[in-house]
Amino acid sequence: MVEKETSAWVAEKRNSLAIDCRSCAGLCCVSLYCAKVDGFPENKAAGVPCKYLEKDFRCRIHDSLQDRGLKGCMAYDCFGAGQKTTQIFRSRGDWKENPVISAEMFRVFHRIFQLHQMKWFLLEALALADAEGSKEEIRSLIGENEEITGIVPEEIGAYDIEPYRRRVNPLLKDVIRKKGGGFIKGSDNRDFTMAILIGSDFSKQSLGESLFLGADLRDANLAGADLSKCYFLTQMQINSAKGDQYTKLPSGLSRPQNWVPQEKSR
Ligand code: SF4
Ligand code: SF4
Repeated sequence: MVEKETSAWVAEKRNSLAIDCRSCAGLCCVSLYCAKVDGFPENKAAGVPCKYLEKDFRCRIHDSLQDRGLKGCMAYDCFGAGQKTTQIFRSRGDWKENPVISAEMFRVFHRIFQLHQMKWFLLEALALADAEGSKEEIRSLIGENEEITGIVPEEIGAYDIEPYRRRVNPLLKDVIRKKGGGFIKGSDNRDFTMAILIGSDFSKQSLGESLFLGADLRDANLAGADLSKCYFLTQMQINSAKGDQYTKLPSGLSRPQNWVPQEKSR
């Protein structure tokens, strides 16, 4: 019997996907391939630490990322995979003090990232699905997701994610098709699934229950927009857009610091 969701159940699961960089060994800043053109400070290969990553895994230029135009760094969000992986490897150290585990640690990080991302979308789909049959299937996939991320590191690192993804994707598509198909033309609700919305102007618009799965919102203007009831938005999409203190976000997503006017230091 799969556990039924309550709002507290969903909130707890969403919260577990929030990043906690202070409890992480800087995994994104070392394990990912980065390109200057994508808003990172330099072109670097996966597995090479960023030149600004400090010994304690803090970013030396964190406070000036915006002034330096490092949009890639500002937008990145790992769905909580960083701190979880760091915790899993705690007894064996980290990639820096114990380099023999680095390849395995990065592999686990990437697997958990993919699984957590799917879990985020499944939680969204759960709120949207109308038939109890689909809800039961989504709950079961969420439970399975948690079982996989709970197995020992070597097994998660080697875990073939594709069969799981092949069951998740059609379900998400089906939920989106049913929801988007019911949208009335001219209403606030729109289906932006996989849409390229770079630089689009949504300022002060009410976006109703619009769907944003995989939409590219880089530099989209969300100032004063109401997205509070929208679905499939991620923190990374929000971080890559422009908004302000009046933008309304769905629960579980945070307002990026640079959207709020900072007090000038005297
Ligand atoms: S991997 Fe995630 S938790 Fe770790 S530093 Fe990067 S964003 Fe933060
Ligand atoms: S600049 Fe900072 S946030 Fe960006 S990759 Fe380097 S250490 Fe990480």
